[in-house]
Amino acid sequence: MLKVQNVDVAYGVIQVIHGVDFWVDEGECVALLGSNGAGKTSILKAISGVVPLKGGHIQFQGNVFDGQPSSERYENGIVQVAEGGKIFPHMTVRENLLMGASCRDKAWKKRQVTLNWIYEIFPRLNERLNQESRFLSGGERQLLVVARGLMALPKLLMIDEPSLGLSPKILLEIYATLAMLRDEGVTILLSEQNVAQALKLASRGYVLENGRIVLDGLSENLLENDFVKRAYLGL
Ligand code: ATP
Repeated sequence: MLKVQNVDVAYGVIQVIHGVDFWVDEGECVALLGSNGAGKTSILKAISGVVPLKGGHIQFQGNVFDGQPSSERYENGIVQVAEGGKIFPHMTVRENLLMGASCRDKAWKKRQVTLNWIYEIFPRLNERLNQESRFLSGGERQLLVVARGLMALPKLLMIDEPSLGLSPKILLEIYATLAMLRDEGVTILLSEQNVAQALKLASRGYVLENGRIVLDGLSENLLENDFVKRAYLGL
């Protein structure tokens, strides 16, 4: 479904992503792993078109998306959930959700059906629909941004660091929800520093260091890999 081929990204003269190659098949959950500054967010932004490619190609469902604006990629079902639970604080939970559907024609037409689905999967949000979202906890905000991404009926949902700043208990709740989405067949590209948690969810992973993929493989193999154990799992 998604092919990232030999991609380079630069901010001004500083290149931060170097020849990155990976793919995501339909219905898969794949993790981009790495510590702060490894380049995970820059890759997601290059796929969603928020930052331009310096080199390489992005193919999605057979179409080349190298230079298309992010709006066109969104319309084609590439949806990025930004890190840090960024919401519209003075809008209600329901209004935030509707914003997710508002920029994609297909999603807007089906918004009521999607909302009903979201209410089932995210009961915590369902209880707070008419409340201004600034009153949500950090974990609830994170749920809201994922739910808002789903309102666009994504073909590919890219989630940037869902565990950022969350307590272990809330983190488990978020990951349980993501597992539910994975099991429903939503295609997910996840960026995470929390390697142990991400590899429990994803079927495959790519480890990034200094903008380069240094290791990739099936999650069960990465969890047993000595380098991963030492560098990322504290074992
Ligand atoms: P984090 O987990 O901290 O978000 P990351 O793996 O997502 O890290 P990126 O945010 O992609 O990494 O950053 C990769 C490199 O690009 C870092 O060195 C960062 O300082 C740099 N960088 C990111 N955004 C910009 C920007 N807008 N301008 C200049 N440099 C940037």
